[in-house]
Amino acid sequence: MIDTDVDLSTANTLALPARAERLARPADVDELARVLTGRGADPLFVLGGGSNLVLTGDLPGLTVMPVFDEVSYRQVDEGLAQVRVGAGVVWDRLVADTVAAGWQGLENLSWIPGNAGAAPFQNIGAYGVELAEVVSTVEAVSVEDGSNISFDADQCEFAYRDSLFKSRCRGEFIITHLTLNLRRGNACRLDSFRLDYGGLAERLAGDGPVTPARVREAVIALRQSKLPDPATLPNAGSFFKNPVVSLTHYQRLLERYPDLVSFPVAEGRKLAAGWLIERSGWKGRRLGPVGMHDQQALVLVNHGGATAVDVLSLAAAVREDVRQRFGVELEQEPVLMPGA
Ligand SMILES: Cc1cc2nc3c(=O)[nH]c(=O)nc-3n(C[C@H](O)[C@H](O)[C@H](O)COP(=O)(O)OP(=O)(O)OC[C@H]3O[C@@H](n4cnc5c(N)ncnc54)[C@H](O)[C@@H]3O)c2cc1C
Repeated sequence: MIDTDVDLSTANTLALPARAERLARPADVDELARVLTGRGADPLFVLGGGSNLVLTGDLPGLTVMPVFDEVSYRQVDEGLAQVRVGAGVVWDRLVADTVAAGWQGLENLSWIPGNAGAAPFQNIGAYGVELAEVVSTVEAVSVEDGSNISFDADQCEFAYRDSLFKSRCRGEFIITHLTLNLRRGNACRLDSFRLDYGGLAERLAGDGPVTPARVREAVIALRQSKLPDPATLPNAGSFFKNPVVSLTHYQRLLERYPDLVSFPVAEGRKLAAGWLIERSGWKGRRLGPVGMHDQQALVLVNHGGATAVDVLSLAAAVREDVRQRFGVELEQEPVLMPGA
């Protein structure tokens, strides 16, 4: 069934006003194929949990929200299992279930809002782990001809908050399922956990053996202490990616700002965008109904009644100040829909 003129203001975590001309919620691949066949030449948008979006206006044509909800496990051997999950499964529900069952692999990616189908789109990442590290395959339907395609992880062109689906083939595929690799038992040695990021190791120190469940608890506690809950303060998580600069540029900045926060990467140095924004004076500062959060300068929040124009004006002002002060270009992380 396709609904018409659907209010999307509660379907995006920035709580921006927008409506979908027509909204379909296919529950399986056959239903999705039927919906696509009947679309004609209408514009097409894909919506998950709406947690990484700036809705810039009403969505014309057809919006598809896959609600595929199947989750199935396959034990490969004693230490390795694979979980195949439908695009409509809430990501953190999956993480909670795998961790509760004792499986390792997703615990660092706890408490990220949104649905499983969007996770490969921007290669979600947190606490030193990216989805790319656990993906086996991504199944999708081609928007052009409705055919089913399965991508191996190395075909997905995963990069920092990026993939084939977000960049080179944007708009060409609707992701329907992912298959993820999980470990358990003896395969979960201490050195197989990623704890060297964001205070995780300190939080876990001295309290008995490290388990996926304990890592998940620690990640959730850390995230809740830093990130605003979209249910009470609408936001889309990190609004900008951490920019990568050359080593020469980094050295120049370091001379002027010895406390600059950064991480080594193959291409040069990744700078903490939150630090750059805070040092540009934007932490906790508002512009009309929007502002940069007072605990986490990287998160743009809607204090109430904001429109996309408010959001994009603030983003432009922040980007300009960071460019002026540090000579660094910030790239927006959430997707504009409809695009610019
Ligand atoms: C408080 C908060 C914290 C966050 N923390 C993190 C974090 O730590 N790490 C991180 O990486 N992200 C984070 N995010 C961003 C966001 O949660 C993730 O990017 C998430 O994967 C988006 O999922 P979604 O279902 O809400 O996607 P949506 O916002 O609905 O869609 C995002 C994009 O994906 C596309 N898309 C969605 N589903 C599909 C599909 N099935 N097939 C093809 N394309 C699709 C959409 O068309 C759109 O372009 C955070 C967001 C919030 C609000």
